[in-house]
Amino acid sequence: MPLVKPQLLPRTRMKTVLTTLAMGGIGLGVITVMRRSYSQAASGTPPAVFAGGPAFVSLPLESSEVVSHDTKRLRFIFPQNDAVSGLSLTSAVLTMSWPKGKWLPVARPYTPISGTDDTGFLDLLVKQYPNGKQSTHLHSLQPGQTLLFAAAIKRYQWQPNSFPQVTLIAGGAGITPVCQLARGILRNPQDKTAINLIFGVNSDEDLLLKEEFDGYEREFPGRFKATYVVSHPKKASPFRKGYITEELLRGLAPRPANGNTKVFVCGPPAMETSLVGKRGKTGALERLGYYRSQIQVF
Ligand SMILES: Cc1cc2nc3c(=O)[nH]c(=O)nc-3n(C[C@H](O)[C@H](O)[C@H](O)COP(=O)(O)OP(=O)(O)OC[C@H]3O[C@@H](n4cnc5c(N)ncnc54)[C@H](O)[C@@H]3O)c2cc1C
Repeated sequence: MPLVKPQLLPRTRMKTVLTTLAMGGIGLGVITVMRRSYSQAASGTPPAVFAGGPAFVSLPLESSEVVSHDTKRLRFIFPQNDAVSGLSLTSAVLTMSWPKGKWLPVARPYTPISGTDDTGFLDLLVKQYPNGKQSTHLHSLQPGQTLLFAAAIKRYQWQPNSFPQVTLIAGGAGITPVCQLARGILRNPQDKTAINLIFGVNSDEDLLLKEEFDGYEREFPGRFKATYVVSHPKKASPFRKGYITEELLRGLAPRPANGNTKVFVCGPPAMETSLVGKRGKTGALERLGYYRSQIQVF
């Protein structure tokens, strides 16, 4: 993989970015971070692109692969080919772009699907929404063009062996943090957590990353189990038809008698609301006996 030189931002864009971050209350420390963005880490450890918090790295796109009718896998390359992302499990990155004629940038988070120990690149899996500002921009990117990564966003901090078993529920593009967590648990030889994955999508073609999950089922029998639920399956589809409902979860994710578990949920707003509840209304998971503290939305 070639060594890639860091891209400097045009002065006008930099001014806009700094203004935006200051407005968002995260401007402090940006200059310091920019100075050390590409610095080598302590000897013996690979350099990390994201040190946590503001990052301000502009990374070139290496490739863009169509993985379904509305989703692309985008690979960005790091300035050094031995660099790692430096992100913790389930972290997201805040990306920014400038729509033509607009003063303020569009900022949206994405959860990388490349591993925390992968060197030289960062992969995003991006679903395009109709008229979606950032997803459409990302889908339009051509190899060689760059994207600004403004910050790393820490999400749930997983501790190995916190529970004997966890349930991961994902809908559509919500599979990205779920995939990160599953891979992080299974690739850590010290972590013995069993995983029950429930992945709901619209069509068979939307079952992104299924090959990876198939591999885990073969490699970790009895420890990793995936169930796929398709709302509009094709004829003779091997998958369950329907949505991730209370009834379905009663059979697939019963709360263990000792209660020692956690459920992670990531999906479209309607799915999250029906499972987790909203504004005092309980969701399906609480009705199934899970305490609110046992439910984590990514
Ligand atoms: C922590 C975090 C991590 C994320 N990781 C990923 C990821 O790895 N991959 C990925 O593809 N997305 C991910 N997202 C969603 C992403 O940040 C954007 O919200 C999404 O790409 C839409 O942005 P947009 O600018 O294209 O759409 P917008 O211009 O904001 O919206 C355009 C239209 O799309 C609809 N829309 C937008 N978002 C959704 C949604 N989530 N579900 C249903 N309809 C929607 C809106 O109703 C609106 O009408 C993540 C979100 C969060 C909070």
